[in-house]
Amino acid sequence: MAANRSTRTFSASSERSPLKGLAQLVGVPLDGLRSAQRPVRSAAPAAGRARGGGRSGGGAGARPAVSAKTRVEALAEMGVTDLLGLLTHYPRRYLDRTTQLPIAELSEGDEATVLASVRRVQRLQPRRGGKPVVVVDVWDERSYLSLSFFNQPWRLQQLHEGMEVAVSGRVTTFRGRRQMANPSVEVVEGEWKGRVVPIYPQSEKAGITSMEIAGCVAEALELVGPLADPVPPAALEAHGFAQRWWSLRQVHQPESVAAKSAARRRLGFDELLRLQLVLVMRKRALELGSQGISHQVGSPLVGRFRDSLPFPLTGAQARAVKEIEADLARPVPMHRLLQGDVGSGKTVVALWALLTAVAGGYQGALMAPTEVLAEQHHMSLSAMVGGLAVSDAGSLFGERGVRVELLTNRTTGAERSRLLGGLAAGEVDLVVGTHALLTEAVQFAKLGAVVIDEQHRFGVEQRAALRAKTGGLVPDVLVMTATPIPRTAAMTVYGDLDTTVLDELPPGRAPIETVWARGPLDVEAAWAAVRREVQAGRQAYVVCPLVEESDKIQAASATEELERLAAGPLDGLRLGLLHGQLPPRDKEEVMASFRSALTDVLVATTVVEVGVDVPNATVMVIEDAGRFGIAQLHQLRGRVGRGGGRSWCYLLGEGTTPDGQERLAAMERTTDGFELAEVDLELRGEGTILGTRQKGVNDLKLASLRRHRKYVVLAREVATEIVGSDPDLSTHPGLAEELKAMVDDEDREYLFKN
Ligand code: ADP
Ligand code: MG
Repeated sequence: MAANRSTRTFSASSERSPLKGLAQLVGVPLDGLRSAQRPVRSAAPAAGRARGGGRSGGGAGARPAVSAKTRVEALAEMGVTDLLGLLTHYPRRYLDRTTQLPIAELSEGDEATVLASVRRVQRLQPRRGGKPVVVVDVWDERSYLSLSFFNQPWRLQQLHEGMEVAVSGRVTTFRGRRQMANPSVEVVEGEWKGRVVPIYPQSEKAGITSMEIAGCVAEALELVGPLADPVPPAALEAHGFAQRWWSLRQVHQPESVAAKSAARRRLGFDELLRLQLVLVMRKRALELGSQGISHQVGSPLVGRFRDSLPFPLTGAQARAVKEIEADLARPVPMHRLLQGDVGSGKTVVALWALLTAVAGGYQGALMAPTEVLAEQHHMSLSAMVGGLAVSDAGSLFGERGVRVELLTNRTTGAERSRLLGGLAAGEVDLVVGTHALLTEAVQFAKLGAVVIDEQHRFGVEQRAALRAKTGGLVPDVLVMTATPIPRTAAMTVYGDLDTTVLDELPPGRAPIETVWARGPLDVEAAWAAVRREVQAGRQAYVVCPLVEESDKIQAASATEELERLAAGPLDGLRLGLLHGQLPPRDKEEVMASFRSALTDVLVATTVVEVGVDVPNATVMVIEDAGRFGIAQLHQLRGRVGRGGGRSWCYLLGEGTTPDGQERLAAMERTTDGFELAEVDLELRGEGTILGTRQKGVNDLKLASLRRHRKYVVLAREVATEIVGSDPDLSTHPGLAEELKAMVDDEDREYLFKN
C-alpha cells in the first residue's frame, strides 16, 4: 500500500456527494477516533510482563489498572496506522453464538470452541520438578469445563472471575469431568450484541483485545459513513457479488455466518481485481508505450532450421510457433510466456524465435539464471545452428555461418573485449549469457529478440533492463519457465505477459517409473537397477546430495560420493564425475564421454538439471532427495525417459521433513509437471513462490491465489474487460483513484503517466 502518511483528517460532515471511496481513507491517522485514544486493558501476557505487572489482579468487576499504552499505539504495533488499515484489518475468524455446542454436549476427543465465563482461577503447586500449572474453571450456565495451563503463569494475570472467554482445544475427560489442556483462549468480553463474534488477529500479542479492536472499527465505520462502490455494477451482478459498503460492515459486524462469507468473498475479489488491473494496465502500457520491430516471418533461414530438425514439430510446438510468429510480425513488442513441461521441447521454439530475428539482420539473446545453465544452452544452441548460414554481403560467398557466443562472468580479458566488440558491431548473431548480459558494457548493434530462461529467478526489473539495452526499437521478449507453474500463479506473477503453453510431449516417450526408496532394501534395489541397466547397455545418472554451503563444498562431496560408489554399490562400472567447479573444457570432455557411452554412470551435482540430453540413459538415482524442491526434482527426473524404452527414477532417503516427504510422495504419484506445480504451490504457500516477485501479492489479506483460483481467473476477466474499453480508467474514476492510492509509487508513475 502507498505510504502516504501526511497528516490528513477525515470528517464525516464534508461533502456528501459524490460518495467517498477507500482512497480517502489512506493516510488518515487513527487519533481522530475517540475509542482509539483509550488505554488498552492490557490483558495480554507480553504487555503485562513488559510493564512490570502493572495490574493488581482482582476478581469480577475489578477495574483494570490504567495502562500507559493507548489503542492507537497498540494498533500501530500491529502495523495498523490509518483508517484504511483499520477497516482492512479483518477478523481472523468468527464465533457463531447460535451454533456453539454447550459444554455438556462435548465428547472426548472433540476439537471444540466454547463460549463460557470464568468462575475460578487457581495456581496449583507443581510437584517436585514439575511444571507450574494454572487451572481455570469456566461455566456456560449449565456445566463446567476445567482448563489446565502448563508453564503459563501469566494466565493468572490474564484471566479473572466473571470474564467471558472463547476457549478452543481438544476435549479430554478425567473422572467424568470435561477438560482441556493448554487451550487457546480469547477474551470476548465487552459490549458485543451480535450473534456472530469477530475474532481479530494478533490481539493478545500487542496487548489489545479483539473486542477493543472491534470497538475502534465500529467507530471508524460510523465515521466514514457509506463508501462508494467503484466496481461496475454489471460485473458485480453477473458474478453475484455483494455491495462494497455492505460487505465492509458485514465483515466486521456480521448479521449471520452467511453474510460474513458473502462479505469476505466480495472484499477478497476486490483485492484480486486491483492486482489484475495493475497487471493488465502494465501490459497495455508495455505495448502502447514502445515501438517494436516487425520481423519477417517464414524466412529461408528458419525454413532450413526446420528442415534440419530430426523430427517434426509436435502439435503444441507448431501452435506455439504460430502464436509467437504472429507476435514477432507485429510492430508491437512481444511479451510472452512460454510454459511447458520438462522435455516438451521449449528450446526448439525459443530458437525459432531467435532465428526469425537473426534472419532479418537482428541479433538474438538468450539469458539464463546461472552460469552452468548458460553454458549448457550455449552448447545445445551451437549444435542446433551448426550448419546454418546467414547472408553476409562482405564475405566471398555472400553468406557466413550463424555465430553463437557465450557471455558469463567467466568470460574475461581479451575474450571478453572481442565478444563485446562483436556484439556492438553486429557480428555476433546469437549470444547466450547470464546476468552478465545486463551490465552496462554490453551493447548490441541491433537486438531484435530476447529469450529469458527464468527458472523463477528473474524479476520484472531485469526484463525491463534487458529491453532497455537497445536505444531505439524494443526487442521482442519471450520468457521461458523451466518447469510449469500453476495457472493462477502465472496469471499473477507473469500477469503482464501473454501465455503460450506446450501441453504435449514429443511422441515415443515412455513413462518414467518413480520409486521412493526409503529403507536400506529399497536403496539396494536402486543400485541393483543401475547395474542391471548398465549390463543391458544403458546408462545412468546419480545426483549427489545437495550441500548448501558452496559450489566448492558441493564439488568435494560429489568427488567423495564417486569414490564411495566406485568402492561399493557401483564397483566395476565406468563412472564419470560432473560438477560446477570443473573447468568448461573438462566439463565438455565428461559430457562427451557420457554421450558416446564411454561412461556408464554420470555422478553429478545438480549441474545435470537442464540441457543434458542422453536418450540412452534410463536410470536416475537422486540421493537425499527430500532436500530438493519439487521443481528441481521434476527437472532432474526429466533427464531420463528421453529414449523409447522404460526408465526409472529412484528417490533416496526418508524425506528429511514432513514437507520433504510430501514432495517425494507427489513425485512418486505423478510425472505431470502441471500437477506437481500445484502441489508445490500448496506446500510452499503463495508467499514464498510469489511474494518477492509481485509486490501486490503482499496486499492480499482475504484472497489467496491458492484457495481462490476461480476468483483469480474472474478478476483477470473483469480487469481485461474494464481496461480493454477504458485503458486509463478515465470512465472509472473511482477505480483509478483507488489504484492510485493503493499501488506503490513506481506503478503509479508508470500506469498513470498522462
Ligand atoms: P524442455 O526445454 O522443454 O525441457 P527440450 O527443448 O530440452 O525440452 O527438448 C527435450 C528433448 O526433446 C530434446 O532432446 C529435443 O531435441 C527433443 N525434441 C524437441 N522437440 C521434439 C519433437 N517435436 N519431436 C521429438 N523430439 C523433440
Ligand atoms: Mg531445454
